[in-house]
Amino acid sequence: MRNIFDTHSHYGDRAFDDDRAEVLAGLPGKGVRCAVLVSCSVKDTENNIRLAGEYDWIYTTAGFHPEYASDAEEGCVSELRKLALSSPDVRAIGEIGLDYHYEGYDREKQIKLFCDQLELAKELSLPVIIHSRDAAEDTMRILREYRPEGVMHCFSYSAEIAKEVIKLGMYIGFTGVITFRNAKKALKALAEVPDDRLLLETDCPYMAPEPYRGRRCDSSMIAHTAARAAELRGMDTQALLDMTCRNGMRFYGIEEKSGAENNHEEKL
Ligand SMILES: [Zn+2]
Repeated sequence: MRNIFDTHSHYGDRAFDDDRAEVLAGLPGKGVRCAVLVSCSVKDTENNIRLAGEYDWIYTTAGFHPEYASDAEEGCVSELRKLALSSPDVRAIGEIGLDYHYEGYDREKQIKLFCDQLELAKELSLPVIIHSRDAAEDTMRILREYRPEGVMHCFSYSAEIAKEVIKLGMYIGFTGVITFRNAKKALKALAEVPDDRLLLETDCPYMAPEPYRGRRCDSSMIAHTAARAAELRGMDTQALLDMTCRNGMRFYGIEEKSGAENNHEEKL
């Protein structure tokens, strides 16, 4: 397989502390053409910019995850703004959004942090990566208001909401979850996504696809996610990888060099 584009990864995670350099060095040889390190806090953004700077096929984002909204300090969005402007590797604002999954979340604080970062993305003309869990109603209301260029990542909502997200002109990202036996809902949503709006991601180290479910995930495993999506769409797996790679490059504004698509070793 070639042209694997991992649109959402967390290689800064502790799970990679022992062997991060080896894992990353091995990926291009397994067909991985590009990976985006998605950031969850100011500190994470700093680390990811440093890490992305070491590899010419790795890009990153600046953003504050809703789950950590209670840790967000006054002025953190202007910190993110500075960081986003500090490196050409920063290609999006994310991950941002709403997460009402765990008890004790601060709804108002999450909404404020989300909207402030949507404003930042607009100001910098960057797309956004949306994380939304158990918060579909508030998320959709805010997205209808701001109409950002963006992706709803690790999509976990219904096919109806997928249709609405597509109508807003956004992309939808799917993880290894679509390979799980109980993935009916995700597969129904996947069926609603047009070819040019589909992105694949790992969300690694989490969400490893079958047959690796429960293990530490890395970008090469997207081949299994792609095989499942291709089966559903009646496509060849490589053709689906080529298509989602083109989508990822368009989404993140990564230049395509002519002929590069057929050779994963060629630099972007
Ligand atoms: Zn993530």
